[in-house]
Amino acid sequence: MPKSKVHIKINFTLLIPLAIFGYFFYPNVSTIIIGCTCYAVATRWFNPDADIINQSKILSFKGILTLPLRICYAPFFKHRGVSHTLFGTVTRMIAVIIFFYIVLFLYFMSWKFITSGFFSNLDFMQVSVQTTETSKYFLESFASFVTTHKAWSISALIGVFIADLLHILSDRIL
Ligand SMILES: [Zn+2]
Repeated sequence: MPKSKVHIKINFTLLIPLAIFGYFFYPNVSTIIIGCTCYAVATRWFNPDADIINQSKILSFKGILTLPLRICYAPFFKHRGVSHTLFGTVTRMIAVIIFFYIVLFLYFMSWKFITSGFFSNLDFMQVSVQTTETSKYFLESFASFVTTHKAWSISALIGVFIADLLHILSDRIL
């Protein structure tokens, strides 16, 4: 069972060969750079061991960056369960979306609280609708970005999936 440093070493050693391999298939520098960046970010902060992220200290750069996974992921997934499959990658993406929904909800709620002054005036239904509408707007903007930059988006997704795949494989082999 490799430690996180070993995972990072393995993935970063393979980064350049994978980038060259990717360029061979799709010779576009910006697309490959985006894929590599997402691969690196996924390796460092978004990997399958997010299921035990709460065991590492929160007051650090990594701690703050992994806050969505600490709140919306780690408490719900057991170590090396679903998290260590390629479906785990999707569950982490959903966890991040849920986290931002919660943040947005709290933002609107505190805004209502400040402007109305009393909790008794708080309309939770209204705040939920407002949050859902705003989230929908963000998701739609994101979706239109994805469809206009298809190659970049696919490359980003492949980067994240390969990073996770290598993590899962090295967990099984080493
Ligand atoms: Zn692992």
